[in-house]
Amino acid sequence: NIKLSHVKKTFPNGFEVVKDFNMEITDGEFVVFLGPSGSGKSTVLRMVAGLEEPSGGEIRIDGKRLEEIPPKERSMAMLFQNYAVYPKLTVYENIGFGLRQRGVAEEVIDEKVRLIANLLEVADLLKKKPRSLTASQRQRVALARALIYDPQILVMDEPFANMEENVRPRISKRVAEIHAQMKGIVMLVTHNLPIGLRLADRVVMMKLGEVHQIGTPSEVYDQPASLFVADFIGDPK
Ligand code: ATP
Ligand code: MG
Repeated sequence: NIKLSHVKKTFPNGFEVVKDFNMEITDGEFVVFLGPSGSGKSTVLRMVAGLEEPSGGEIRIDGKRLEEIPPKERSMAMLFQNYAVYPKLTVYENIGFGLRQRGVAEEVIDEKVRLIANLLEVADLLKKKPRSLTASQRQRVALARALIYDPQILVMDEPFANMEENVRPRISKRVAEIHAQMKGIVMLVTHNLPIGLRLADRVVMMKLGEVHQIGTPSEVYDQPASLFVADFIGDPK
C-alpha cells in the first residue's frame, strides 16, 4: 500500500502547489486524480514517483519511507508527458526496455511485447522508430512500455491525452483489463471525466493544492463534498 501523510509541496517562490495531502491507497486500487489545471495533480504523482521531493510530510510504501527505498528496489512504472519514448530504439525495443533492463529472458519479453502491442493497437508498428509515428501511436507505445511489467505501482499522467477520440475509449478499456489482471496500484491523472470515472475505484478531487473529496465515483457524483466537486463533475472543464 501507499500512505501519504501531510504531504506538501511548496516551490521556492512560496507557491503551495500541494497543501496537505493525506491518503492511503490499498494494493490493487485504481485511483484517478481529477481537478482543474494547476490543482497539483501532477505534483502529487511526481512525488510518489520520486521525481519531486515533498517539502513536508511523508510518503510510505508498505510502511517504508519512500526515500529509504533505493530506486532500483521500487517496483514502479511511470508515464509522464515529458517521459516520451526513446527515439533511437524501435517500438519493439521501447516496449520491452524495462523488462530487458531487469534481465527477463528474451522469449518472455517477446511474448509480452506482442501481447501488449496487440492490446494497445501498435502491433503493426513494432519495427518502426518513434519519429515515424503519430502522436497517438507514440503515446500508446509509451503506455505499453509502462504497462508491460506488472509494477506494484503504476503512475500515469494524462496517458490518453494525445490519442484520437476514436481510439481513446478502447484503449482506456484495455488499461482497465490489464489493471484487473495485476495486483498493482494505479495512480492516474486525466482531464477526461467520463474515462476517469469509469476507470476509478476511487477519485481524488483537487483544486488549488487542496483535496476537496476522496471517494468512489458514485460517492463524488451523488454526494459531492463541495460546490466545486458538484460543478466539476456536473460540468467538466
Ligand atoms: P494540469 O491539469 O494543468 O496538468 P496539475 O493539477 O497537474 O495541472 P501541477 O502541475 O501539479 O498541476 O501544479 C501546477 C502548478 O504548480 C502550476 O500553477 C505551476 O505553475 C506550478 N509549478 C510547477 N512547477 C513549479 C516550480 N518549479 N516552481 C514554481 N511553481 C511551479
Ligand atoms: Mg498536470
